[in-house]
Amino acid sequence: MPLRNITVIGAGALGTSVSSILASRGVKVRLVTNDPTILTGATTAAKYFHPTATEYPKKDHFETGKSVVEGAMTQLGLYGRGFLHDPEKKGRFWVSRDSSKSNLPVAIFQENIKFMSEYYSTLHDGFLGSSSWQRSDIENIFYDPTNFSREVRSQDFGVTKVIEGVETPSSTLDMAAFYAQQKAILNQLGITPDYNTDTVAIKKLGAEYEVELSTGEKVASDAVILAAGYHNLKLAELVQGASPLPPGKWFLNGILQVKLPPTNDPELIRLYQGTNFTLQQEHGCMFACTKSPTEITEGEAFIYYPSAWGSQINIHDNLSGFPKGFDYTIKNGLHETVEYSYVNRILDQANKFYPFLSEVRPIKMVYGAVYSSATKTNSLGSDRRERVFSRRVVTGDGLVIASTAPKFTNSGLKALHDTQYILDKLDLPGLPIKDDNDPYSLDIPLITSSLHFRDIEGSPKDKVEYLQNNGLLTV
Ligand SMILES: Cc1cc2nc3c(=O)[nH]c(=O)nc-3n(C[C@H](O)[C@H](O)[C@H](O)COP(=O)(O)OP(=O)(O)OC[C@H]3O[C@@H](n4cnc5c(N)ncnc54)[C@H](O)[C@@H]3O)c2cc1C
Repeated sequence: MPLRNITVIGAGALGTSVSSILASRGVKVRLVTNDPTILTGATTAAKYFHPTATEYPKKDHFETGKSVVEGAMTQLGLYGRGFLHDPEKKGRFWVSRDSSKSNLPVAIFQENIKFMSEYYSTLHDGFLGSSSWQRSDIENIFYDPTNFSREVRSQDFGVTKVIEGVETPSSTLDMAAFYAQQKAILNQLGITPDYNTDTVAIKKLGAEYEVELSTGEKVASDAVILAAGYHNLKLAELVQGASPLPPGKWFLNGILQVKLPPTNDPELIRLYQGTNFTLQQEHGCMFACTKSPTEITEGEAFIYYPSAWGSQINIHDNLSGFPKGFDYTIKNGLHETVEYSYVNRILDQANKFYPFLSEVRPIKMVYGAVYSSATKTNSLGSDRRERVFSRRVVTGDGLVIASTAPKFTNSGLKALHDTQYILDKLDLPGLPIKDDNDPYSLDIPLITSSLHFRDIEGSPKDKVEYLQNNGLLTV
């Protein structure tokens, strides 16, 4: 069979993963990004690994949470634990005292934890039952399901205005380590991304697609994956004969980077550490510490206030073309005075729940866009608690698709789903499945026992490069 060529446009969490997975299956991959490096876009805003998916409680809706739990296990199976800051750190999820004013009553929170915990155990059992995995590797890589959640008291963690909480295994992301690892993987697979390269047109030519790049080169491709986040909207407009867009919404969000003051107070250091989620929209706030302070050095953390007053900056309809304002804000931020008021409201909200943050120093807002597709229970994609896998088939023959990862956490799983789709379209052997009637019932334990990058380590130089590129190099 002749070698198949795929062009992937966009080198975020999804584009890099789908490229290396396809290349591992013998496909020749061309990875194109208009940025000077990989893992830009929304991926730079992701700070937290969600193995427990306790973030999305909605009555009787488990699809989002399931894809995050399965996504977390896939991500660990594909890449190991090196992309986590401190794998043993716990995340805490709290129910705000005002939760009844949002659409998250305590009962749904509890129902969600119970469901996710059981689902996690089932998936974990799948790994244990798979003859392709060693028990010791499972123990080293995955979180133990018996520790999935434990009730915690808010006063022990300096948290106020909440009524209930659980602690779950989770960690903040060491995106610098992931960046270095992804670069090493691409390098090992012989994929040299085309950096700083725009796409000018995507045309059908005979049985192939021709991707015309801003360098003038025309790349012949059997299939094309648009993995450029919300820029997929603009790219789809360049595809000859593109079909209409399905409904969905893009959200422009901002996460606030803060410095934690140096301190020799062990109690304050303890309170600063870990991640606290109180996720009841405007009745909550998230605080994630990525670096503890010491007596002489500042620490670092990120705060997200899930409200239009705080981190939820803008909304754009999928049907009305490319959201030009998003690009401007992501690059330049909001107007200084407007941004200042967002920052103040985010800090005020954080202080309500986590009073120990009174001395933090705001550094900058990091902006990015996330997508929710419309479903039967999420009309037009407006409900952010539903973030399900979606794939837009851009051309009638299905050989040009547009895709984005709902979370960093499930980007590897989404990449496997997209790989499965493309392999099928190109009549290549698919990935192993559990149910013959469902091509997307991927057998993750079996797949990740042979298709994985756990042994590939990134270089310290690339880690530093990432920190420098993102203004995160701290002393
Ligand atoms: C504020 C915020 C906080 C978040 N926090 C978390 C979190 O804590 N945990 C979590 O799991 N997820 C989090 N997410 C979600 C996560 O960041 C996204 O789901 C994920 O990054 C999407 O990955 P992607 O590869 O689909 O898109 P992106 O990460 O947006 O990547 C798209 C890539 O395409 C490139 N590109 C753009 N235009 C073009 C073009 N014309 N040609 C070529 N390339 C192009 C970009 O440079 C970029 O590298 C957060 C998102 C935001 C906005």
